[in-house]
Amino acid sequence: MKTIGLIGGMSWESSRVYYQLVNEGVRDRLGGLHSAKCLLYSVDFAEIEELQHAGKWAEAGEHMADAARRLEAAGAELIVLCTNTMHKLAPAITGATRLPFLHIADATAAKIKADGYQRVGLLATRFTMEQDFYTGRLRDVHGLEVLLPDEQGRQTVHAIIYEELCRGIVREESKQAYRRIISGLVEAGAQAIILGCTEIGLLIAQADCPVPVYDTTEIHAIAAVEAALGGI
Ligand code: GLU
Repeated sequence: MKTIGLIGGMSWESSRVYYQLVNEGVRDRLGGLHSAKCLLYSVDFAEIEELQHAGKWAEAGEHMADAARRLEAAGAELIVLCTNTMHKLAPAITGATRLPFLHIADATAAKIKADGYQRVGLLATRFTMEQDFYTGRLRDVHGLEVLLPDEQGRQTVHAIIYEELCRGIVREESKQAYRRIISGLVEAGAQAIILGCTEIGLLIAQADCPVPVYDTTEIHAIAAVEAALGGI
C-alpha cells in the first residue's frame, strides 16, 4: 500500500471527511484492521482564503508547493489536494514534486462518463465555476458540457460555502436554496450534478437532487484509495 499525501485544511471540515473516507475505503478493500497509510498537511485556511479573495494566486501557489514538498519529504507517495478550488494551482504542486497528483476533476469526469452522462450542472465556489481551470478541463479534456447557475445563484452557492460550510455551519434554509438552484440546472438540461466543492456534501445528498449527484470529495477519496492499493 502506498502512503497517500493529503493537502488539507481547505477547509478542515471537508479534510476530516477525506480522512474518514480513505480509511473506510482501505478497510472495505482489505478488511480486518486495515486502514490507510496517509499523511495530512493541513493549512491555516484563513491565510489561504485571504489570498484567494485578494487574487494573490501566485502566493497561494507557493503555499501549495510548500505543502507538497513537506509531504514528499515525510514519505508521501502520491498527492491528493482536498479542495476543488485550489486545483487552479495544480501546476504549482506538480512542479514542486515528482509524485503522482490525482486531479479531482479527472476522477470526477471519469466516473460521470463511465455512467454515460455528458451534460452536467456544477455547484462550486465562484473561482471554480467562473474561471477556466476546472470547467475548461471538464470540457476540453473530458468532453463534458457544463451548466452553471445564473449570477445570483453562483453568488448564493459561493457565499454559503465560505460563510457557512467551511465554518461547520449547516442550515436548512441553505439546503433549500441549493435545492432550488439544482432544480434550475436540471430544468436547463443537466443530466447530473457535480458537487464541485468538497464541503457541499455536508449540506446536499442524493435525496436532495432529482438527477444523479457526483460528490467530488467521495470520488476523489475513493480514487486515492485505488491509487494507493493499485500495486497490491
Ligand atoms: N473546499 C472548497 C472547494 O472544494 C472551497 C474551499 C477552498 O477555497 O479551497 O473548492
